[in-house]
Amino acid sequence: MKQIGIIRCEKNETRCPLTSCLKALDQGREGFQDGDGHELVGVFTCRGPGDGVADMARILKSKGAAQIHFCTCMFAHKDKDGWVEGDGLCPDAARLAGDAARAAGIPCVLGTAHLPKGYRPDIFT
Ligand code: SF4
Repeated sequence: MKQIGIIRCEKNETRCPLTSCLKALDQGREGFQDGDGHELVGVFTCRGPGDGVADMARILKSKGAAQIHFCTCMFAHKDKDGWVEGDGLCPDAARLAGDAARAAGIPCVLGTAHLPKGYRPDIFT
């Protein structure tokens, strides 16, 4: 069972209660196909410009997270045919994931639910 932390973007914190993220985690689908089951240890909301992300990552690790996932909507958007990479809520999602991985010393993954077609989750270490 892999312990997971999630970091989401403030831009939709009042519009999406992480429903698909949590379902994918629970069912081991989409961004959570690695390992043998996943358990959520906590969720943080990143506020622009992302200065707090390193501390959030360290705290999630201290709560037991072995891996942190950044929500798909941070780096992808939905169009009429589904989710497409680019034009997400955060222009710096990759940089933030790299910062978080270095700060906490655990892998940080770009992707949770409804991954864009052909997208393989970027993993920062
Ligand atoms: S990835 Fe999807 S389910 Fe998760 S927070 Fe973003 S819009 Fe909501």
